[in-house]
Amino acid sequence: MVVVMRPNTCQEDIERLVERFKRMDLDVGITNGVGCTILGLVGDTACVDMDKISMNPHVERVMRVQEPYKKANRKFHPEDTCVQVGTAAIGGGRFSVVAGPCSVESEAQIISVAEDVKEAGAALLRGGAFKPRTSPYSFQGMGLEGLELLLEAKAATGLPIVSEIMSPKYVDVFEETVDVVQVGARNMQNFDLLKEVGRMSKPVLLKRGLSNSYEEWIMSAEYIMAGGNENVILCERGVRTFETYTRNTLDVSAIPAIKQMSHLPVIVDPSHAAGLYWMVEPLAMAAVAAGADGLIIEVHNDPPHAKCDGQQSLTPEKFGHLMGRIQGLVDLMGKTLVR
Ligand code: PEP
Ligand code: MN
Repeated sequence: MVVVMRPNTCQEDIERLVERFKRMDLDVGITNGVGCTILGLVGDTACVDMDKISMNPHVERVMRVQEPYKKANRKFHPEDTCVQVGTAAIGGGRFSVVAGPCSVESEAQIISVAEDVKEAGAALLRGGAFKPRTSPYSFQGMGLEGLELLLEAKAATGLPIVSEIMSPKYVDVFEETVDVVQVGARNMQNFDLLKEVGRMSKPVLLKRGLSNSYEEWIMSAEYIMAGGNENVILCERGVRTFETYTRNTLDVSAIPAIKQMSHLPVIVDPSHAAGLYWMVEPLAMAAVAAGADGLIIEVHNDPPHAKCDGQQSLTPEKFGHLMGRIQGLVDLMGKTLVR
């Protein structure tokens, strides 16, 4: 971190600030220019509050030279992280596909979709039991019963299960049931939830918020990792833009950018990005080509009658087609598709 002092600040005021930084266990390099002094702070500056320092009347400008995230930072962890979930693996050259309905709707539905996606090559089963719906009058999910049905589908197919947590009060239940805890886009900056999930032993699939920057997204991963849970999978699911043709705009740039910034695996959700079932396969292909470590795809046995997100859900047949197309591309990227 670099602190530029205002021109002609007296030596006493500079020394007072330097002492304050030293009390924070930081080393301070002092450069005296013509009428201007620059302080270079070295050490753990992640906990330094930039806004507080800029409030000092003798400070002109404060700049970070290092990112505010440590555990998620590629600089301190150059190798790719691979998150292992049973036999599935995401990252470090292993590519897995998570597939299943937006919401668990019944025993017959979730078991039938689980069997179909397994057959097509998915490595994990998704299914929402607690749904974050825009309208309070829309289907809110089956709740705890939905989690029970996911366990039945897991028992029938052997697929590990991924489901979204919306409230810290369900942390213990999720710890007992799911294999991967999903934190949805709307909760990406629910810091109380992130802290609780950070105490869990289960891997976390952290979706990018509706309008969040890469740094904000990685800082949310940092919250989870700071709590002790370092198995975080980042998921790009499209962001809000001026375009209304699609539900969101898939930010393909997020894949190489995040890989540069962080060692955490990145997967892509083309279903929520497009909001249109026929666009899911081309976006999935783009994601693989851009270096994604996995995909999460909505699949429903009867999309026109789905209780949630039918318009963006693939039939099992279409999902089978997508899996066939991405297999060759995953190979071309030098990765292994885990089935
Ligand atoms: C979902 O995966 O069902 C979901 C609600 O996604 P998002 O949080 O990305 O909107
Ligand atoms: Mn959905």
